[in-house]
Amino acid sequence: MTSPTHKTDVLIVGAGLAGLSAANDLQNAGYTVLVVDKGRGLGGRLAGRRIDNASFDHGAQFMTTRDPKFVEQVRQWIEDGVAEEWYSSFPGQVNSHARYRGVPTMTAIAKHLAMDLTVKLATTVESVQVHSDGWLSQLNNGTSIQSRSLVITSPVPQTLDLLSTGNVRLPQDKHDRLSRISYESCISVMAVLDKPSAIKPPGAMAIDSGPIAWISDNQQKGVSVLPAVTIHGSGDFSAKHFEDDRDEVARRLIDLASPYLGAKVVDFQVHGWRYSKPVIVDSSPCMIASEGTDLPPLVLAGDAFAGPRVEGAVLSGWAAAKSLIAGSV
Ligand SMILES: Cc1cc2nc3c(=O)[nH]c(=O)nc-3n(C[C@H](O)[C@H](O)[C@H](O)COP(=O)(O)OP(=O)(O)OC[C@H]3O[C@@H](n4cnc5c(N)ncnc54)[C@H](O)[C@@H]3O)c2cc1C
Repeated sequence: MTSPTHKTDVLIVGAGLAGLSAANDLQNAGYTVLVVDKGRGLGGRLAGRRIDNASFDHGAQFMTTRDPKFVEQVRQWIEDGVAEEWYSSFPGQVNSHARYRGVPTMTAIAKHLAMDLTVKLATTVESVQVHSDGWLSQLNNGTSIQSRSLVITSPVPQTLDLLSTGNVRLPQDKHDRLSRISYESCISVMAVLDKPSAIKPPGAMAIDSGPIAWISDNQQKGVSVLPAVTIHGSGDFSAKHFEDDRDEVARRLIDLASPYLGAKVVDFQVHGWRYSKPVIVDSSPCMIASEGTDLPPLVLAGDAFAGPRVEGAVLSGWAAAKSLIAGSV
């Protein structure tokens, strides 16, 4: 029996900020759009988790704004009630950019962006191949999607793997640019405390050296009703211990964090982000990968293109949509 095939103008791989931002612009321009994500929740690296009644932001912790269009977007999210300023500087820090948080958690922004979109979660795009009228993408639930255009927003090493499933060959210069992109890893520990932490307001600590890069107090931040901290291993530490026993690595980070916590950890979970933040990015806001080839429209987007942060992911998603709408693909 052949699997059912669904049709859409644009298939977007990834319901992170790049994918959701692209999807909104394309849908507003009249395209039918389907977003597919292998994760169980919306937002990709804008991730949240619960341990009983404790809640955590365990991926991106905040957003900063530079580009005027993104400044306006965050202003709109604040007006819509899904974001607010968290802090501008904490004790001992001279850098006073405003840091914005999602309300009540970072994933609120992704949920808000997905409100009017068709998104299939917990669904992996297993392969993509060129089809007579565009792209044919096979999903792990046995269905396939036929689309005129394809936007892929996964971390670039995963994108290259996906393209290789259908023998999609990119021009050598584009392939070289993509191969240069690299990411740091991050081991993220979510720990429930027996009492409020000793971390000073605003409940955030960036640490410049050593195994810990960041500790945030989700209770002070307003994410959790119970005392709960997120501890991020540094890029070097996380890469070195990525394949080690996760619980042991988590316990080590908790031990190292304990002088800052001033409270006992009563429960914890750990998550490893293999591709946390890009350290080498591409110089263009998205890659029109099909340009100059016989491939149907194919655009690659995400934070590896327009900057290694939440802002970059959104700008890249918008750039991907713009390139399709302008017909430059
Ligand atoms: C621990 C951590 C801390 C961070 N801290 C900050 C911070 O404080 N401030 C900041 O601005 N940024 C921060 N970042 C970076 C920020 O989270 C990212 O830049 C941004 O969220 C990237 O969005 P994206 O849409 O490009 O990618 P993603 O959010 O990674 O979205 C890609 C999506 O594609 C999906 N996917 C991949 N392959 C497939 C497939 N084959 N089929 C279906 N779906 C697929 C994935 O499940 C994922 O949801 C942090 C990231 C991490 C991990």
